[in-house]
Amino acid sequence: MGCLFCDIVSGKIGARKAYEDESLLAFHDINPQSPTHVLVIPKRHITTITDLGPGDEPLVGSMVRRAKELAREAGLADRGFRLVFNCGEDAGYSVYHIHLHLLGGRAMRWPPG
Ligand code: AMP
Ligand code: ZN
Repeated sequence: MGCLFCDIVSGKIGARKAYEDESLLAFHDINPQSPTHVLVIPKRHITTITDLGPGDEPLVGSMVRRAKELAREAGLADRGFRLVFNCGEDAGYSVYHIHLHLLGGRAMRWPPG
């Protein structure tokens, strides 16, 4: 079974990249839900949050730190932003390769829909 985000990592499918290093890739969401909407993903395929193990803590920590750095670069540090991991059907998870959503640039409601 193919994976859309693995295809973005390999370059088979294009994306507007915001950041890349040896373990992470960040790119702009194709269907943005806010003026800033970036996805931070591990290059290694991990299907869902439920697949994370203890050894993945540094990786997940680096995703969060990268997201806050991208938020700062987008000018969102002071006004605020939202970081979201969806998981599974009830959350509307649609691409089964974990990704951290960075959303910002508009006021958001809570609870989410
Ligand atoms: P989720 O609902 O948490 O699984 O989010 C998946 C996200 O991936 C959605 O916000 C989609 O708009 C986004 N997405 C799907 N295909 C692409 C793509 N080719 N490039 C960038 N973002 C995408
Ligand atoms: Zn994948």
